[in-house]
Amino acid sequence: MAKKVITGIPVSSGIAIGKAFFMNRRLYGAIPRQSIAQDLVESEAERLRQAVDCAISDLVAVREDLPKELSDHALLIDSHITILRDPKLSKSVVKYITTMQINAEWALLKAIKDTEETFAAIKDDYIRERIQDVRLMADRVLSKLMGLSSGLTAIEGRIILLAHDLAPSDTAGLEVDKIMAFSTTEGGKTSHTGILARTLQIPAIVGVSGLEDNITDGEFIIIDALKGRILVEPSEEELAHYTELQNRFETYQKSIHRNCHLPGETIDGFRVAVHSNIELFEEVAAVLDYGGEGIGLFRTEYSYMNRPSLPTEEELYEEYKELAEIMDGKKVTYRTLDLGSDKLLSQHAQISERNPALGLRSIRFCLQHKDMFKTQLRAILRAAVHGNCAMMYPMISGLRELREANKVLFEVKQDLRRDGLHFAENIPVGIMVELPSAVMTAELLAREVDFFSIGTNDLIQYSLGIDRTNKDVSYLYQPLHPAVLRSIKMVVDAAHQSGIEVSLCGEVASDPFCVPILLGMQIDSLSMNPQAIPGIKRIIRQTTMDECKTLLRRILDCRTVMKINRLVMDSIFTRFPEELTFYSSLLDLDDMV
Ligand code: PEP
Ligand code: MG
Repeated sequence: MAKKVITGIPVSSGIAIGKAFFMNRRLYGAIPRQSIAQDLVESEAERLRQAVDCAISDLVAVREDLPKELSDHALLIDSHITILRDPKLSKSVVKYITTMQINAEWALLKAIKDTEETFAAIKDDYIRERIQDVRLMADRVLSKLMGLSSGLTAIEGRIILLAHDLAPSDTAGLEVDKIMAFSTTEGGKTSHTGILARTLQIPAIVGVSGLEDNITDGEFIIIDALKGRILVEPSEEELAHYTELQNRFETYQKSIHRNCHLPGETIDGFRVAVHSNIELFEEVAAVLDYGGEGIGLFRTEYSYMNRPSLPTEEELYEEYKELAEIMDGKKVTYRTLDLGSDKLLSQHAQISERNPALGLRSIRFCLQHKDMFKTQLRAILRAAVHGNCAMMYPMISGLRELREANKVLFEVKQDLRRDGLHFAENIPVGIMVELPSAVMTAELLAREVDFFSIGTNDLIQYSLGIDRTNKDVSYLYQPLHPAVLRSIKMVVDAAHQSGIEVSLCGEVASDPFCVPILLGMQIDSLSMNPQAIPGIKRIIRQTTMDECKTLLRRILDCRTVMKINRLVMDSIFTRFPEELTFYSSLLDLDDMV
């Protein structure tokens, strides 16, 4: 057994085995408080100034040598340089050195504590969270004061890089060929670390609590970014197991990647478009690399978050246009703003809702903030002339809401005409089906839209009455619950009866155990995270519509989730054993293996 096993969120799949190396370790616990004599106060203050200057020079050098593909990060690095240059912070550190006669490291800690308290009282989420950047910069100065190297130049061989957090200014200067994998204490699915790891195609796990307390530099560890586990000082058997798993995973990856640009088509010729979901523009490269045939869901709200002001129409237009152009004729589906609930804007006063998932979110929010909605619609309509674009409204509950949204769209088109601006007059307009009320009225909605996209993440939440963000009820999140399957089938059938296409863009689309069932329903397209595309295409290309339909029939006869899961497990595991090993499924399969 390993000495310790700690867990986190896998954001880039794979296995890495090697020595741990910490960068930006949160140094606060390791700092001694030392009194200094009065006559050394000035030299201590000078030591601080030099450490700050050194940290600035490092960042300026990183900024100058920034590789072209990371040029988007220049602004962030500039903002970090500005933090370091801010005389207020240095002044308050020097004040502590002078008045308390303490060492610069301890004085810096005290000054950061003051800054944290000031930031904690700030109401604006975005500005309050900027304390992370201040802490990162304080870490850089502390490393300099303590004579620690933050670079990898002194390291021989390849390592697994661990850090409290990794800012673009850290990763931009990394010698990437020395890094086998990443892991950080901070971070979530869309964190910079995750995106970078996916771009570099190396395994990564983020959001690991206890990372810094449980691993020391040079310790031998295994990063299992298939399951989100880190094994510290593994046993011989674990090592042998993971070495073998790593080889199999790499061979498997190579084999599926080779064929990922082939179309998603079953052996008997049924074509399913395999699209990708993206949150950030930077992910487009991965979509194309992994064989994405288009973008089935662009979650546009991320361009509105983490910024002090709302984006302008021109900014949005430029971003949407660039996306349409890069995709070069491949489909791009912009989802209009899905803000609200947990995705609040920093510009809006804190809305405190009892049940945010049932509150003023998504299309409801847009219909109450029409100016903001109109700005986005103008940008989408204008950008859409530059590619093969479509748009869809999230969380539509029924005809009335759809018509209200379409009325705004109509007004926007009139305004654009009046302004003499070129726009896509006939852009296809669809809706996301994610509420049970939309499922039940799918037949009516289908007559008034150009396409459906089923958002199972929310549809499951609302159908089964479970908060998708609550760990305590996650065991009830069952994609193959008969109610969910029947809902999806109803929507697909309603769409086809009206002659419109239907896509599915929730996580279910990337679950190898669910895909054959969706094929059996004759879904037209699936949209998923870019990395999942090669594996899902492999399943599609090695199956027949006949066997998917048979499986679906058998499943629809089952009365319980348990029975369905078992049936799926038996049939798919025998056909695609690799998928069980290399993909984390949404289904609760552990007790069935
Ligand atoms: C969904 O609900 O399935 C979906 C794709 O939208 P989001 O996850 O962004 O809510
Ligand atoms: Mg949703």
